[in-house]
Amino acid sequence: MLIKVQTREGFIEREFKNGTTGKEILEQTGTLTSSTIAIKFNGTLTDLDREINEDGIIAPVLINSEEGIHILRHSAAHILAQAVMELYKGALPAVGPVTDDPPGFFYDIQMDDLDDDGIRKIEEKMREIVKRDYKIKRKEFERKDLLKMFAWNKFKVQLIEENVPPGQKSSVYEQGDFVDFCRGPHLPSTSYLKGFKLLSVSRAYWKGNEMNESLVRIAGTAFPSETELKEYLAMVEEAKKRDHRKIGSEMDLFVMRPEYGPAFPLYTPKGTAIRNELMNYMKQLNWKHGYEEVWTPHAFKTTLWEKSGHMSHYRDNMFLMDIENETYGMKPMNCPGHILIFQRKAWSYREMPARFSEFGTVYRYERSGVTSGLLRVRSITQDDGHAFVRIDQIEEEVGNLLDMVNEVFVDTFKIRELKFKLSTRDENNTSKYTGSSEIWEKATNSLKKSLEKRGLSYEIKEGEAAFYGPKIDVDVRDAIGRYWQLSTIQLDFFMPDSSHFDLKYIDENNTPQQPVMIHRAIFGSLDRFIGVITEHFAGSFPLWLSPIQVRIVNISEKTREYAQKVHLELREQGFRVDADFSQDTINKKIRNSHKEKIPYLVIIGDKEASANRISVRDRKDRQKNLIELGEFIKNVKEEVASKNTELNICS
Ligand SMILES: [Zn+2]
Ligand SMILES: [Zn+2]
Repeated sequence: MLIKVQTREGFIEREFKNGTTGKEILEQTGTLTSSTIAIKFNGTLTDLDREINEDGIIAPVLINSEEGIHILRHSAAHILAQAVMELYKGALPAVGPVTDDPPGFFYDIQMDDLDDDGIRKIEEKMREIVKRDYKIKRKEFERKDLLKMFAWNKFKVQLIEENVPPGQKSSVYEQGDFVDFCRGPHLPSTSYLKGFKLLSVSRAYWKGNEMNESLVRIAGTAFPSETELKEYLAMVEEAKKRDHRKIGSEMDLFVMRPEYGPAFPLYTPKGTAIRNELMNYMKQLNWKHGYEEVWTPHAFKTTLWEKSGHMSHYRDNMFLMDIENETYGMKPMNCPGHILIFQRKAWSYREMPARFSEFGTVYRYERSGVTSGLLRVRSITQDDGHAFVRIDQIEEEVGNLLDMVNEVFVDTFKIRELKFKLSTRDENNTSKYTGSSEIWEKATNSLKKSLEKRGLSYEIKEGEAAFYGPKIDVDVRDAIGRYWQLSTIQLDFFMPDSSHFDLKYIDENNTPQQPVMIHRAIFGSLDRFIGVITEHFAGSFPLWLSPIQVRIVNISEKTREYAQKVHLELREQGFRVDADFSQDTINKKIRNSHKEKIPYLVIIGDKEASANRISVRDRKDRQKNLIELGEFIKNVKEEVASKNTELNICS
């Protein structure tokens, strides 16, 4: 058989005897490394020692690749189940999948409850199994033999009955005397598992149904190396410290009252200060990029939601209400309102694109919205906007929006790591999409060109486009390495079409044409964005976003009057300033202001009062003594205006 081995440089092509294993082929072509754990044969992931019997392409799969890590975690789940079975007689492993969020694995097992000591023992046993370095072997059996093999485990019996048709074969994986019904692939042997840790025990139900058997879910994570595991665990610890729910309550930014409105956040004066700064900033940016601000109501009759397709596609997530024999729906999206504004007049091709923006609050019934703080709420304020464009304007308008994304995250927030994802349609299943093939191709090419023109690399997500158009999503990396999907640029051929809002502009030949609609949001949801940047900055917001920018403290009662004068002056300048004139010691006042992450502390003592000056200390404990108030005001103004992410006045 003729095998091509894929390497970084290209292909190595060679003849092999039928039945040669993937591992042997890699060995003989000099392409096997110590981190190769599996292969892809003609695009399908499979075990390293699988026998190959036909022509094809082999690509080595490394343990630190995305697919390699998946295999590693899946094998870790098997080793976990093996450890439990060695320690607890009668334990019945049910299912043990890999998880993306959090990254790791779990195994649901029918057994007695576990305490911390039990978890420690299981982890020790896993290390022992890793050391024993069992080969992990794949074997195939007929359905009837599988049922016999697993007759002791009712869960596996049910899985075999559901997944293997009568008369057919399926695979098991064996390591030592542990066997699991499984498709694989797996690590070559147990010693490949190096950096792993069990993290939690919880309750689960067979098939996720509370009416079924109760199971113990043991969850853990695994990485290709100890170092990566340590880095991950440190990141998780750091993320806990930065949790925006914790910081939000310490800094008094927002409150939740689930007894009156689950997942409906209420913003305090301090939280509202952050919201307003973000909104004002985005309003200026919208204006600069041609988006005109509009305002639309929070509810419409369902006749509008029928026309927009929301009643047929989105009804389950809508808040509906009956008033005087009419049904109204809270808006789940702002688009139909903007369409009504577009429809108020006739548009010439010369006036296109039409661009509207709105900080529109939409209401969506999110089932899991109760516990995630601001990350998943039911009243969502988006920095929403819609452009109505001619097909030949898609590229330019998308470019305009990519420039906005760059201005917000790179220029202003100094976040340089952005991931662009282009979702396209599934070319093998085009019937499920609205719009002609021609428009899909043109639009997708326009999206590609606007990305490429800016030198932005992107990942194509084939088949992940919505049925109404391709889109670009932007993931933004935060200070501790997590990526958050924030911006979206979504094309839409559906709402403007003749069976929905039938939108038109008049082209140069006086013929009505259908525009393309672009839905866009740069922050995404303002609520989620505030949650994300609270964690990104760990509450230490840049000066322009800080809820309190300056706090005045006096050292003794004697200097209170002068301190009050300074407070008033700074307030008149429009800064967000407060004062601590309590009887606390100066050190306590400093500590308290640090707890609230206040950027600048103005300290007034005898020296300052008699010299008619101030001393300034920042939240990094850098201090400048006896400076003029006028100079400080000028510096604060500059730092706010430049939206600097660093505090510079005391440096
Ligand atoms: Zn498995
Ligand atoms: Zn929209």
